[in-house]
Amino acid sequence: MSLTSTYIPLNLHKPSEPFAATVTANIPLTPNSSEDVRHISLSVKGSQLKWLEGQSLGVIPPGQDANDKPHRLRLYSIASSRTGEDPQELTVAFCVKRVVYQNEAGEEVRGVASNLLCDAQPGDTIRVCGPVGKHFLMPGDAQTPILMIATGTGIAPFRGFIRTRAEQAAVGPAFLVFGVRTSQDLLYADELRAFTARPDHHVQLAISREQTNAQGGRMYVGDRLTELTDILWPLLTQGGLHVYQCGMKGMETGVEAAFAAIAQASGNDWPALLKQLRQEKRWLVDTY
Ligand code: NAP
Repeated sequence: MSLTSTYIPLNLHKPSEPFAATVTANIPLTPNSSEDVRHISLSVKGSQLKWLEGQSLGVIPPGQDANDKPHRLRLYSIASSRTGEDPQELTVAFCVKRVVYQNEAGEEVRGVASNLLCDAQPGDTIRVCGPVGKHFLMPGDAQTPILMIATGTGIAPFRGFIRTRAEQAAVGPAFLVFGVRTSQDLLYADELRAFTARPDHHVQLAISREQTNAQGGRMYVGDRLTELTDILWPLLTQGGLHVYQCGMKGMETGVEAAFAAIAQASGNDWPALLKQLRQEKRWLVDTY
């Protein structure tokens, strides 16, 4: 079965004609952490929306910004598979961290869209548009091995990937390397456990503030990758491995360094290989 259909849904609801989705659930994912991350699901029944895993939807907060202009839309990665959260309903989920910080003047700043979503109650409406994004999609063939590297809420698209793989009969090897601050910040732990029940499916956690790397520093996703070298390298060079990164921009450096070290140890030219992987659309990045 082809996973990525040739049809990629795009902008089925334009920002000028958003759909008023109804919140169906708002589940705290990190109740024992200082960080507040929520799983928010929305019913989009009655809309034109379709999506593929790895795409995003726009959220348009109500009201106006400090300059009396309508709020701009914010993009959120879809955390559902294309079939949504509930097969009976058309439902789509986001994984959202509440943004609250102090600015240089010492004032508390609360992210408009993240607080709107994290405070939303079942029955509330949220204006959404999209979907957008056509590069961070699953390989067309479910047998193609995939490496998913996530930090924090960057797990969102991979939850969709994992749920889709779970629905398929014959799938190739899949690896998830997931970086979180503490054990209390681990997202979707039960679903990750279920994912590893399948042979050839592996999860490696990098719990930065509880584990240390070989140099004694914080354990990051790049450090965990070096431990998977023996399995990943042949898959990368001969097995068609697709590498996906989602989360913090800073993670890219450590991930590339890990692969560069592996390449160097086996006498390979990493910059040339990276260029080739990008050309073949096997090195896919969605970070900010
Ligand atoms: P977080 O909790 O602040 O961090 C997650 C983990 O990443 C922590 O273990 C953190 O370690 C680690 N980390 C920090 N710097 C790193 C680096 N240079 N290399 C590797 N790991 C590093 O994450 P979050 O608040 O959920 O933020 C996730 C980020 O993903 C946000 O910037 C968000 O905008 C982005 N995001 C992007 C998409 C997308 O592109 N579609 C979707 C969802 C989220 P320490 O803090 O302990 O150092």
